[in-house]
Amino acid sequence: MVVELPLRAHMLPGQSPSALLLDAAASPTGPVPSSHPTERCLSRFVADEMGARRKKKIIRHVENCSACEQEAARLRQLRRTFRDLERTAIAYAASL
Ligand SMILES: [Zn+2]
Repeated sequence: MVVELPLRAHMLPGQSPSALLLDAAASPTGPVPSSHPTERCLSRFVADEMGARRKKKIIRHVENCSACEQEAARLRQLRRTFRDLERTAIAYAASL
């Protein structure tokens, strides 16, 4: 299987390789079309901060990978929470 190369490509300085190994181990033989995008990659995806080609690739992956679909949903929820928090903080600061 060619999981290793794309995973390496995603690796960032300071990122532990064991996390990537765990990620790969999560789907040993599953019908996942390519390696999982990293969390950083997924969060940029939900923030719509990436190029169209890359985005397309991730959409295709997420459609076929329930683990990443759930992760993307979690990150989306997290973004909403942060936005709400920010709004609350701004309203609070304005009331001081
Ligand atoms: Zn995945």
